[in-house]
Amino acid sequence: MRDVIAFIEQHAGTPRRVSFELATAAKDLAAELGGKAHAVVVGKGASTLANTLKNYPIDVIHVAEDADADAYLVDPLVDYVESVAKATGPAVILVPYTMIGRDVGSRIAARLGGGLTADVTEVHVGGGRVVSVSPKLGGLTVTSCAFKNVDYGIVAVRPNTFAAREQSGAGEVVQLEKPATKSYPIKIEDDVVEAAGELGVEEASTVVSGGRGVGGPEPFTTILKDLADALGGAVGASRAAVDAGWVPHSHQVGQTGKTISPQLYIAVGISGAIQHKVGMRTAGTIVAINKDAGVPIGEFADLLVVGDLFQIVPELTKRVREAKAVPA
Ligand SMILES: Cc1cc2nc3c(=O)[nH]c(=O)nc-3n(C[C@H](O)[C@H](O)[C@H](O)COP(=O)(O)OP(=O)(O)OC[C@H]3O[C@@H](n4cnc5c(N)ncnc54)[C@H](O)[C@@H]3O)c2cc1C
Repeated sequence: MRDVIAFIEQHAGTPRRVSFELATAAKDLAAELGGKAHAVVVGKGASTLANTLKNYPIDVIHVAEDADADAYLVDPLVDYVESVAKATGPAVILVPYTMIGRDVGSRIAARLGGGLTADVTEVHVGGGRVVSVSPKLGGLTVTSCAFKNVDYGIVAVRPNTFAAREQSGAGEVVQLEKPATKSYPIKIEDDVVEAAGELGVEEASTVVSGGRGVGGPEPFTTILKDLADALGGAVGASRAAVDAGWVPHSHQVGQTGKTISPQLYIAVGISGAIQHKVGMRTAGTIVAINKDAGVPIGEFADLLVVGDLFQIVPELTKRVREAKAVPA
């Protein structure tokens, strides 16, 4: 395996943040392997996004502005990635460990007879092989898996674990030929955007999460959202808050919710049960706001602020706004 291909997940020209993380990881791995870094970007808005990708360290950007990619579920994307992989030859293919990325990655692995590693937080070359590192059992153990005897290694990368690095490069843009006409089995009839305009917890670099301690739905749309907005972040929640019906499940962080790695995680009125911890333990900095000085989250938070959240959170928001000179 020499070259590295990054599948760029996007919607109507808007990339997932993880796409830029993959672009950077692809280049770093390709440098270790002595090969080239490729990106595959397909669908409406792909050409514009290809120009944006020129700001990242990709050598070749393969583009197809193909309406089928938006009209049918996953298969057209797989066709394009497969065609680039076959043209490139033995390669590592990076996909994001997201709903779409997992689907694309597993199908590519099946088509190319490749190996697949999932939920990867580190990838490097060791002993002449490509090695993927993944936390298992909620981070209690870490596995290192090497690809052997396969031409293609598919690596599903956990979002927010690789830093995206801008680097103005001379990425060559190549238009992809449409793969031979196929009849795709699943057509997308409707595309419902949940909570339009809001940043998802898995995309945000800062997440302010509320738990049972916030006492009801209202703080999620007032004091927690105010703090998240002031920090340019998103609002998350514990399962207790979701089960109480205070906030939709799409905000839930933890074992049965989302696994996230923001740079800053602020847990408000959350005790830090293991099922919550496994969803946020890799955050860069963890701040807990809790009235109980002996709360379990204090054992793994970087900072525990002890006090009433209804006093601390608005005061914190005020100070963030003042510091950033954001009008209230
Ligand atoms: C199979 C399984 C899967 C699960 N999956 C998940 C999951 O994905 N995500 C998840 O979060 N949980 C999950 N859970 C549930 C988990 O075990 C806990 O029950 C849950 O995380 C507790 O939520 P909490 O911290 O909000 O509530 P609590 O544990 O009740 O904590 C509330 C906290 O708020 C503090 N507090 C109260 N009032 C204030 C105040 N005014 N100011 C400051 N602090 C205050 C309290 O001191 C307390 O620490 C799962 C459980 C199981 C069994």
